[in-house]
Parts: sequence; structure tokens; C-alpha cells
Amino acid sequence: MRTKLFSLLLAALLSFVFVGSTFAAELTVYSARKEHLIKPLFEAYTAQTGVEIRYITDKAGPLLQRLKAEGKNTKADLLITVDAGNLWHAGNEGILQPVQSEVLTANIPANLRDKDNQWFGLSLRARTIVYNTNKVKPGELSTYAALGEPAWKGRLLLRTSKKVYNQSLVAMMIAEYGETQTEQIVKGWVANLAAAPFSNDTKTMQAIAAGQGDVGIVNTYYFARLKKKDPSVPLALFWPNQTVDGSGVHVNVSGAGVTKHAKHPEAAIKFIEWLSSDKAQNLFADVNQEYPVNPAVKPSDEVASWGTFTASPFDLTKAGELQTDAIKLMDRVGYR
Ligand code: FE
Repeated sequence: MRTKLFSLLLAALLSFVFVGSTFAAELTVYSARKEHLIKPLFEAYTAQTGVEIRYITDKAGPLLQRLKAEGKNTKADLLITVDAGNLWHAGNEGILQPVQSEVLTANIPANLRDKDNQWFGLSLRARTIVYNTNKVKPGELSTYAALGEPAWKGRLLLRTSKKVYNQSLVAMMIAEYGETQTEQIVKGWVANLAAAPFSNDTKTMQAIAAGQGDVGIVNTYYFARLKKKDPSVPLALFWPNQTVDGSGVHVNVSGAGVTKHAKHPEAAIKFIEWLSSDKAQNLFADVNQEYPVNPAVKPSDEVASWGTFTASPFDLTKAGELQTDAIKLMDRVGYR
């Protein structure tokens, strides 16, 4: 009797192991997000499912080139990168495939994913106004457009227009205001610059904190990093375009897509679904002090402490579609 029970248990255990091992796959990810931001997620997923995840990290441009060059021979099942502009490019270059998933359409708001389902936003960042608290009262601030008005002459600092974040911001402004009005706004920004554009958001904020300028436009997680390093830094965030006729704060995403020639497309979809779930959203967002895209999940205490805002409801696909127009526009008005 005892032996029989034992062999039954053993059979059950073996079948579990067998089923487990046939279900388990391995995935290969090409990631333009840095290793320390993605590794904890991969480890959590492997611990939960047994699926091994291999990855390489590089900048978005070289990864897209590599995927194109490798074609059918690629080992990559997934591409992870930041900015809807980059994700749109990947889709447009034909290196991703459309994915039908009820889980993803339920978990991710429609404006934060590709309308052809080739990529999905997984964490959200706001590109918002930052100001020197010793020099500016929040009541003086209102909209992105207002930073182009004469009141801010010699007080504005910006990051270079070569960065996709600003290209997406301007592309989304074109979607919202049209080209003529956006050109006027950006022209006003350039006229108000206190110094030549900086190479990154952190340098822009450090210059504002040092008094080289009073206001700027940055991504929220860079603000979080700087505050963590130096809590006394005299900077605060402001949420623009919040009045009744305002269109909301510009938001963008980091996200993922299944590659066109993925060897494990089903396992890749399962992984993206998991990344969009309650369980993984905080893990994904908090590691870089971003916002979850899944509206059912709350941001970290630190991110929540910045207060709530209305985000722009515009479709992020426009950040890609209008990127070339945005680059040309910035060039015309002398935004370097
Ligand atoms: Fe960034």
C-alpha cells in the first residue's frame, strides 16, 4: 500500500516535471534598457515560470540595425526599448510582428500601445516642467507653450533636440496643435534659452539648480534620481496643461514587441502579458521610478508624492508618425 502510494506520488511528480519542462522555454531579449533596469524582472519571471531569459543590451539604433541584418537568423524573441518614437520605428522597419492578446488590450490603455499591436507600452514617464524653487513660484507656470512667452526670456534650459524624447514631445505637440502653432511655440522656446541645449536631462536640471536658468523640461525619473542623490536640490516638478482646455502632461513609454522572426512567439507574448500584469507592473515601473501603464496598479510612494496629473490622451503612435516633421521643425527654428 505504502509502495503503491509512493509510486503514484512519484508518477505525479514526474508528470509535473515533464509538463513543466515542455512548457518552459527560453527567451532571448534585445534590450535598449540598461541591464540593471531589466535584470530584476527577468530573474523574477524565471523564478516564477522556469523560463530562462537571455539578453543583450545596446542602444536602440544599433539593436534595430542588428535585428534587420540578422533577419530570419535572429535569436531575438523580443525587443525592449524606450520611447514610442523608437518603438514605432521598429514596427515601421518590419522587425516586429502584430500580437493578438486580450490580456494586453485589457491591461494597457489604447493610447499607450501600437494601433497595429506591434508594440506595447509597459512603463510610463512624464516629460514635464521642472523649476528652481528659489526663483519660480508654481503659480507663474501654466503650459509648455507659455515657456515660449517673453516672461521666460533668458530663463529656459532645454536638452538637445537630437534626443528622441524631445522629438516625441514636439511630434505630440504637432498632433495636438498643428504644425504652424507648434513652430511658434518652439521658436519661442529657442528665443528664451539661457544657454545652449544640454546633452541630457540631468545636466539640464543641474544647471537649473545652479541658477544658470530657472525652468526646463525633463523626464520624471531623472528628477527622481537627482533628488535621491541630493534631497536638498532646489528643484520641483510642475504639471502643465492641466486647466479645463489644457490637453494634459506629455507622457511617453518604455515598451516591448515580439520580433518578426521570434523562435518562441507564444512564450514571448506570455512574457509581455506578465510584464503588464499587477504582479510585474510595480517591479517594472519602480526600478526606474516610473509610472505603471496598467491603470489598476498604483505608482511607488515616491512617484505618488509628486501629485497626480491629467496626462495627454493623444495616441503615442503619433510620436513616430510625426517624428520626421518634428525634427525638421526644430531644425527650422534653430533648436539644436
Ligand atoms: Fe531616459
